Amino acid sequence: MIRVRTEEEIELLRENAILVSRTIAEVGKHIVPGVKTKELDAVAEEFIRDNGATPGFLGYGGFPYTLCISVNEYVVHGFPSDYELKDGDIVSIDCGTTYKGYNGDSAYTFACGQISAADQALLDTTKSSLFKGIEAAVAGSRTGDIGYAVQSYCEERGYSVVRELVGHGIGRNLHESPEVPNYGRRGHGVKLPEGAVICIEPMINQGVKDVYLDDNGWGVYTADHKKSAHFEMMVVVRKGAAERLTTYEYIEGIK
Ligand code: MG
Ligand code: MG
Repeated sequence: MIRVRTEEEIELLRENAILVSRTIAEVGKHIVPGVKTKELDAVAEEFIRDNGATPGFLGYGGFPYTLCISVNEYVVHGFPSDYELKDGDIVSIDCGTTYKGYNGDSAYTFACGQISAADQALLDTTKSSLFKGIEAAVAGSRTGDIGYAVQSYCEERGYSVVRELVGHGIGRNLHESPEVPNYGRRGHGVKLPEGAVICIEPMINQGVKDVYLDDNGWGVYTADHKKSAHFEMMVVVRKGAAERLTTYEYIEGIK
């Protein structure tokens, strides 16, 4: 069942979405060659707690960190570690919060230092595909319309779409109905009611779509070790056009 949110609930989800956006922006200031990814995790946890919230991922299903930090061939769910970022890395920061009983969840993939033109194109395409997906998230459309919008945009440009992980509804729980795949057929899937709040989060690969799971049971990486990018926003399904709860203004304001 897809929950329809009251405007009061939407405001609480928006507060979470903004805090996540601000946290990712704070982390982004520290994405430079030589920084350890676990140092980024500490920045995020302190910022979230200083704002009176708690990290939404920490302990969720046993996940042991505040952030998922997924570098280069890692798609999602990478563990912060002693790895030191290098010039030319691409770094997905996925962050969640819990605040006032509701959740926030969004992601952004950063360039560390100077990245290749090919890697910049991957980032640009993945972010644009998110916006294509958001355009499709209007009341009365179906999850397949979102998936089709993301998939067709990326595949036309020679990229592939990860199938194993999908977007989702969000509310009092981090992951709620419906599942929002980044692939699909127009007119198929679950119908989206006005007032549903969902996370759309394309995970797009330079090479094959296939992925493997790390020995640690969490990290997901591409089967061919080519790079992968990930962008995620929380949106409200509305009549005519979706409303973004997440903003990248804080993040892109620092770049
Ligand atoms: Mg998510
Ligand atoms: Mg996320």
